Amino acid sequence: STTTTQPSDTDKTNAKLPPGMVLGPDGKPCKICTAFRNWKPAQGGQSQDRKQGQNSKVAAAMAAAASGGTSQAQPDVRPEYCPPDVEILGRSTWAFLHTTAAYYPDKPNPTQRANMLNLLHALPVLYPCSHCASHLGEEMNVNPPDVSGRTALSRWLCERHNEVNERLGKEKFDCAKTDERWKDGPSD
Ligand code: FAD
Repeated sequence: STTTTQPSDTDKTNAKLPPGMVLGPDGKPCKICTAFRNWKPAQGGQSQDRKQGQNSKVAAAMAAAASGGTSQAQPDVRPEYCPPDVEILGRSTWAFLHTTAAYYPDKPNPTQRANMLNLLHALPVLYPCSHCASHLGEEMNVNPPDVSGRTALSRWLCERHNEVNERLGKEKFDCAKTDERWKDGPSD
């Protein structure tokens, strides 16, 4: 049994919220935890209350662009000035992490190892999507980061990313192809 003091975002998901929208640790709708296509304020009187805590310009733009949206995947129609959603942030963060791993030394010195460990251990604390961060923290407790070298680190990250892929119902990535994807590009 877990001894977490704070319920996760998913535990706090409110049935009245639009499908896919996630509450943050403060109990309010969490923009950075929610895919843009699901960022759609509820209809009727209760949206007035909810609007109080929202950045109205961004919320209005997102609501307008997502109008007619359902929980089904839709094209990303996010206006350029909108802040990142969980998907944009995730894609960018994975690109940073996998690329950093791909260029990590084969034989890192103690300082490089310590810095990489600091970077990775900061994620469950600082990553803005709080439910993503707490899942990652749990995974990292079970599978601590392997910072012994480029290949091991790339594989470790690939496996963590695959855990998220699996949880989201996405295909697993072939971890033998991390260099091709993040460093060398296709051979032809
Ligand atoms: P992404 O999953 O972002 O992947 C980007 C690219 O990476 C892919 O196109 C592919 O070429 C490559 N790739 C895919 N898998 C791997 C792999 N295993 N190894 C190497 N390369 C790979 N979203 C949630 O909804 N809930 C969560 O709990 C959640 N947790 C997250 C935790 C972390 C630490 C991060 C960084 C992101 C998390 N996300 C979460 C976001 C989610 O993982 C995706 O980034 C987001 O859904 C966008 O997905 P995508 O299909 O564009 O591709």
